Amino acid sequence: MNLKKSLLFAFLFAGFGILAAQETDSAKILKTFHSISSHDLLKITEKLSSEKYKGRLSGSPEYLSAAEWCAAQFEQWGLKPANNGSWFQYFPNAYSEVYSKGSVKYTDPNGVEKELAFPDEYMPGSNSASGTVTGEMVFAGHGITAPELGYDDYLNVDVRGKIVILETGIPYTKNDSVQGKWTPYSYHRYKFKNAIDHGAIGLLYVGTIANPNTSFTEGFVYAHISEKVTEELFAASGKEYKKVKEQLAAFQMPSFVLNPKQKVSISAETKHFPDSKSCNVVGLVEGSDPVLKNEVIIVGGHLDGQGYLGELFPGALDNASGSADIMAVAKALAQSEVKPKRSILFILIGGEECGLYGSKYYADHPLFPIEKTVFMINLDMVGNGTGFFVSSGKTYPEIYRHFEKANQNYLHRKMDASEWRKSYGRPRSDAANFENAGIKTLSLWTSGGVFPVYYHHPKDKTDVLTPEIMEDAAKLLYLGILGVANDGI
Ligand SMILES: [Zn+2]
Repeated sequence: MNLKKSLLFAFLFAGFGILAAQETDSAKILKTFHSISSHDLLKITEKLSSEKYKGRLSGSPEYLSAAEWCAAQFEQWGLKPANNGSWFQYFPNAYSEVYSKGSVKYTDPNGVEKELAFPDEYMPGSNSASGTVTGEMVFAGHGITAPELGYDDYLNVDVRGKIVILETGIPYTKNDSVQGKWTPYSYHRYKFKNAIDHGAIGLLYVGTIANPNTSFTEGFVYAHISEKVTEELFAASGKEYKKVKEQLAAFQMPSFVLNPKQKVSISAETKHFPDSKSCNVVGLVEGSDPVLKNEVIIVGGHLDGQGYLGELFPGALDNASGSADIMAVAKALAQSEVKPKRSILFILIGGEECGLYGSKYYADHPLFPIEKTVFMINLDMVGNGTGFFVSSGKTYPEIYRHFEKANQNYLHRKMDASEWRKSYGRPRSDAANFENAGIKTLSLWTSGGVFPVYYHHPKDKTDVLTPEIMEDAAKLLYLGILGVANDGI
């Protein structure tokens, strides 16, 4: 054998070696892929949604104990604590405990009393003061006073000593730079403060969802009411709710005092904990490449929920489902025989429902340099449906193609993606805080809902999940993350 031939043989042999190694690698990857099962995912979801954690209200002892349970799983699976030896990243998070459903009763102009039904007609306020307020009602639109925009919902009404009825949101709905000027007025906390500054003693907030993203003020009692109830209250005062909404959308400030014979009484039983803290749970699968391990991919989603408002709000779809998928992928990557070359940071985020506290805290105190963060993927509500949706996937094709390939080769689900779109409104998801920190951020959720979605509702239980889509979303995540982690090497 001459030198040329022997070199050729050596080359071929090496080539076969690489091929054989590649085959083993993909077999190993598939083995891990198939180890992800809906059975395990459902067990995690059931655990997180159980009475024990009382709906995972961020800042509450039950949330912290859910966070500890997740950290214990990470530890068992071989992840590393990612915050200087700790599994937790703490931040301040005031919260209120709600001891009962309370009540909302109103008297119509003929003196007939009606008690509203939970949860279809009213929901207790997550940060209501404790006690009862009774009074006449005033509708004050979106509750905004913005002189620089020539807008004041309180201009022609006196709400002193009264209970104010407010809409959420802002009248300006186009997503452009003008909306930016309205954004400070879109926060629930702003509306509460403005109502109190104008002398209101209580609040009926239109829209029956539980929402801890509000503020506590001693003596200020509030509850959420349905649109249907609002319609009835307006009708008894000779107003058509639909028409008033149209006037609001046309910036006409249609505030009015309701018939003084109509009275409402709101009761709540709560206690506020202003100095509480909450946390993100942070676990790391360290990269196997000595250089690339300094680069990190973040897989996150919120662990917290709405809590317990006289009844359990399990938060199964929102977002025990996302937390379960994140945990399943953490386990898969920690135990996978094929190691990711880049590091993967798993973050179960706290305080999302209270106003995106945990993601903001991470953005302000990143555990890895932002410039070394390859991308972040956020999971919120991945447990009901038949397909996948990846927002911003089209903006980052170099990342998205790994997920697309995984779906094409192994999952065969309907999968769509969108372009990143600048939002001028207030940030509405954890993804926005990572994006604003300068990290490429994608969001994954499931599409084609099979069951009705009970959002921020006591019926958001595990029995309205489709576990097979949770399994496929976790599998998609596992292959997609591993693909990016080992890409370009
Ligand atoms: Zn959510």
